[in-house]
Amino acid sequence: MVKLHVFNLGNLKLDANLLVQERSVSTLDNPSAENYMVEFPVPAFLLETDKGLILFDTGCHPDAMKPEEEGGRWPHAFQRRVPWDGDETKTVMYNLEKLGIKNDDIDTIVLSHMHNDHAGCVEFFPKARFVVAQDEFSCSLRAYAQHRYMSSYIWKDTDVWTKMKLNWDLIEKEDGDICLAPGVTALNLGPGHAAGMIALKVDLANYGPVIIASDCLYNKLNYEKLIGPGICFDSIGWKRTAKRIRKIANETGAEVWFGHDAEQFATIKSGIGEYYD
Ligand SMILES: [Zn+2]
Repeated sequence: MVKLHVFNLGNLKLDANLLVQERSVSTLDNPSAENYMVEFPVPAFLLETDKGLILFDTGCHPDAMKPEEEGGRWPHAFQRRVPWDGDETKTVMYNLEKLGIKNDDIDTIVLSHMHNDHAGCVEFFPKARFVVAQDEFSCSLRAYAQHRYMSSYIWKDTDVWTKMKLNWDLIEKEDGDICLAPGVTALNLGPGHAAGMIALKVDLANYGPVIIASDCLYNKLNYEKLIGPGICFDSIGWKRTAKRIRKIANETGAEVWFGHDAEQFATIKSGIGEYYD
């Protein structure tokens, strides 16, 4: 039987147009439409399964927002663009410790994709098997090799984990969906928001099925109106991804949990020690 814990890893802020395309567009009638930032949560998920402990996403690095000269991971301009309000208590490591779980106890880590708020703590899990889309892995390494400091693939994070001997289980497009444990399926969705996206379908015996969409769908507006995000690697792929999640949700009655939806997140149990089963 699967138990699902939701971790609350603080909040990010970002221009609203980057979450949902064309939120504010200037027109002749409104020639100076206003831009504004919105705040949204950063979650990660721990699953207790028959095949061991699975972590879905790893949040931001605890030093993400430190001044760069003091070892801060995110470049100053990036910190101003996507500020995170977290600290070491808003990390997966802190949440695991509170549950009495050591980092090395985690068997598998699935990365929905490798952006700043999902792959920030890879380096803390040297014993885990990392499941990630091959195209996404390549994309993050390309950003690293090209020294793209303003990229969502954080250069300093990548610089640390590329020097480690981690166990990367790279999933190709042709591999299809992957059963990770009874009741836990990695939905191999291909390019969309990023170059290779993975969502998780979790069949909970009591609660029912849930699709943890991560950034395949930032929020309800993306899902219901099929309006893509402003940050998008492949807009056609994004729509295909969103429609596939809709189809699975319709066929199975699964609840869809969005990647960064403040309103929905407030309705999801995320206290330490709380869980769904
Ligand atoms: Zn994200």
